[in-house]
Amino acid sequence: MTPLYPLYINGKFMETKDRQNILNPSTGKVIAEASIASLKEVELALSSARFAFDKGDWPKLALSERRSLILKVARGILDNAGELAALESANTGKPIKETTFMDIPSAAKTFEYIAGSFESFLNSEIVNVPEGSQAALRREPRGVVVLIVPWNYPFLIASWKLAFALAAGNSVILKPSSLTPLTTLKLAGIIHDAGLPAGAVNIINASGPKVGEALCADKRVDMLSFTGSNEVGRQILEYSSQNVKKSIMELGGKSASLIFGDVDVDTAVNSALCSAFLNQGQMCTAMSRIFVQDSLYDRFVASFVKKAKVLKLGPSDNPETQMGPLISDSQRKKVIAYIEKARTEGAKVLCGGKIPSGAELKNGYFFEPTVIAEVKPQMHIFREEVFGPVVLIGKFTDADSAVELANFSDFGLASCIWSKDIPFAEQLAKQLNSGTVWINTYGMFYHQLPYGGFKQSGFGKELGQAGFLEYTRIKNIITDQSAEGRPLVNYWYGF
Ligand code: NAD
Repeated sequence: MTPLYPLYINGKFMETKDRQNILNPSTGKVIAEASIASLKEVELALSSARFAFDKGDWPKLALSERRSLILKVARGILDNAGELAALESANTGKPIKETTFMDIPSAAKTFEYIAGSFESFLNSEIVNVPEGSQAALRREPRGVVVLIVPWNYPFLIASWKLAFALAAGNSVILKPSSLTPLTTLKLAGIIHDAGLPAGAVNIINASGPKVGEALCADKRVDMLSFTGSNEVGRQILEYSSQNVKKSIMELGGKSASLIFGDVDVDTAVNSALCSAFLNQGQMCTAMSRIFVQDSLYDRFVASFVKKAKVLKLGPSDNPETQMGPLISDSQRKKVIAYIEKARTEGAKVLCGGKIPSGAELKNGYFFEPTVIAEVKPQMHIFREEVFGPVVLIGKFTDADSAVELANFSDFGLASCIWSKDIPFAEQLAKQLNSGTVWINTYGMFYHQLPYGGFKQSGFGKELGQAGFLEYTRIKNIITDQSAEGRPLVNYWYGF
């Protein structure tokens, strides 16, 4: 029988009449059914989260109790790690190696990290102000926070948002992408078993366009934390403007890797392959534009193409698979359309660009790793996010032209610099217009470090102290200290 994944509202698991088939992108087969929230369930989630914050226990719990409940969630994730990794791979198409060694343990680590850190981040401050007063700056939770998550890292991004929002004392409504809700709905069971008070966490699977406005414009919501596309991000900002809410926007990217002539070519190629093709290139921080110094360009391209051609495509549950399927057929069609447009604009496809053959691959949404050269900054593929296994390789002569190419983008999420000259690379990093710069590495996310983009990649941070403080507000409480309790304001009308 196909398993059914219910919603989780006010501490109860809720099956709805409206359901949706969840597909495995490796096979195109149905693996589960998920309940879908209608406006009725959205209303329930809103009132549950509001009540839990205003009248419930969660924000009032002693910080040590909050810490121990968050740690129980981390424990629950680790206890179910194998099952969660298999489910995440089945639902997203991500190779099992990635979910087993990255997504699931890193999600557990997020809960552990914030449980161990949030009390020190909440330090209050006393400020002496003139006129004999004193102010206490108090960090408070914001209230009800709506967390909206994309399909490319469903469990990990949900965990980043959830762990930090909860540690700050907020109640939340978490909405996964309706393409990939399974691990998030499974997390509801872990949260329930950990014993969090009812209503502190509500998880609803829903179609974004149907419930987005009801969820994001509602006055009972104090904050929105969104990760996804720029198109949807703009819509959400419109909804949130109806009642003016604090928002975090983690949007798209078109990141660039700058590879200088002094590096070891094998190291640079192997790393660049990962930076472009992990998760089938469906990463906001994918280094989808690689620029190589002209002295190294020919050797780099020859080696990169040779290795891209032999990456092993296969179903996500095979430990040998290096590249799984794309998330859906429509995502694959979008990728193909970008490649066709690039061809007509004069770019050259060096390898890939096709749906692969092979019995094992024929029902999934597979696509060959694709390398494109002779790309110009005016082309669509240079400027727009493809979100698939497609990488552009171009060349530069010197540092100035490299920086110019990297910064020629509406996005500003991340960049890489590869050079043996570390002081030079560190100087260059200052000129790159992106929220993260990796030097001689790629994709290192540390829970201690705030992550977020510049320009149209959005605003606000996830992770680190800065990411935590996003989920809090500062209140200043001013107490008059004048002698005999006669503040200046006492004399204003001369009585
Ligand atoms: P998407 O914008 O289509 O969907 C994201 C989420 O928004 C989903 O949960 C979806 O159901 C919901 N949604 C859709 N319409 C909505 C509406 N009208 N109101 C409210 N919610 C709505 O994005 P996606 O296709 O799931 O993910 C890919 C995108 O996410 C890419 O652009 C990628 O760059 C971006 N992304 C960014 C980061 C980052 O950290 N900056 C990380 C991962 C993914």
